[in-house]
Amino acid sequence: MNINVTNITTPSAKPAKDAALGFGKIFTDHMFQMEYSKEQGWHDARIIPFGKIEIHPASTVLHYGSEIFEGLKAYRKADGSVQLFRPLENIRRMNRSAERMCLPTIPEEDALEILTKFIEHEKDWVPSEPGTSLYIRPFMFGNDESLGVHAVHNATFMIITSPVGSYYPEGINPVKIMIESEDVRAVRGGTGEAKCGGNYAASNRAGERAAQQGYSQVLWLDGVERKYIEEVGAMNVMFKIAGEIVTPKLVGSILPGITRKSCLELLRDEGYTVNERLLSVDELIAALENGTLEEAWGCGTAAVVSPIGELAYNGKKYTINNGQIGTVTQHLYDTLTGIQWGVLEDSYGWTYPIK
Ligand SMILES: *Cc1c(COP(=O)(O)O)cnc(C)c1O
Repeated sequence: MNINVTNITTPSAKPAKDAALGFGKIFTDHMFQMEYSKEQGWHDARIIPFGKIEIHPASTVLHYGSEIFEGLKAYRKADGSVQLFRPLENIRRMNRSAERMCLPTIPEEDALEILTKFIEHEKDWVPSEPGTSLYIRPFMFGNDESLGVHAVHNATFMIITSPVGSYYPEGINPVKIMIESEDVRAVRGGTGEAKCGGNYAASNRAGERAAQQGYSQVLWLDGVERKYIEEVGAMNVMFKIAGEIVTPKLVGSILPGITRKSCLELLRDEGYTVNERLLSVDELIAALENGTLEEAWGCGTAAVVSPIGELAYNGKKYTINNGQIGTVTQHLYDTLTGIQWGVLEDSYGWTYPIK
């Protein structure tokens, strides 16, 4: 792959060691961009100074929402080296999202080469304070310059990167979650299993309503019967019920998370009883009422795991594990973050070193 590099003339200062980085507010000096057309395929791959992009007012993405994205992180190890976590999983998922949205796919080897070359280029921006990382946001959008409705013929693929702070600067705090029984995030046959911006646009109203009532996220139910548990906010969700680890199975409306996959692989390996199955809200409420719901947590790249300390449903509130983080949740957090930051040995081959 030929990647053209144009460096910024005056590099910006890196954030100070103790700076509050937050999430997705500071961007590195460069970005990756390339274009696709039906005639030329992917072309004009380039690393260029970070900045605003020009877009035609009729561009497909602005009218019909053809957009997909990914999210992964680069981690700095104690010896100063930098590594990614299961990047091929993100690339494969991005191509599946692209297929669903009629956007062009990128050959796996090319996508991996682009990703590694770009992170190599921005490596100095990977922070080193505990819990910090460089968040990587690849995204693609339809970019035809006409209002006709059809599969896209022109697209743009970009990667931007942002140094992010620890998700838990004050230690892991269990969150309060509201079970949403009005809005739905996705339906089977829709775009729920694609990582696309439209799913987020559709989720915001319920998220806002929950926030107004003091809840940090909503727990989504299935879009047809509003009966089965799907996801929590923008994370997958897992429960420990009477010793069994349960997570909703991937029925088409749920995002196949890489953290979800990693948690399941770890737990199965360690001999836990793990089931991907349908879990109804009635079964969940019964487990809350009879005391067999031992732990609940969300999982995703940003937080790794996020313990759930309280669930609300139809005006009733239920506390989980006395509002404390559970032992399985803590174990998953310690193991995954240990592998990601290179503190624990990676016997799975999940980490991917950057030169
Ligand atoms: C990205 C995402 C997740 C988590 O996926 P990871 O690969 O674990 O980061 C879960 N649900 C939704 C809706 C997402 O967009």
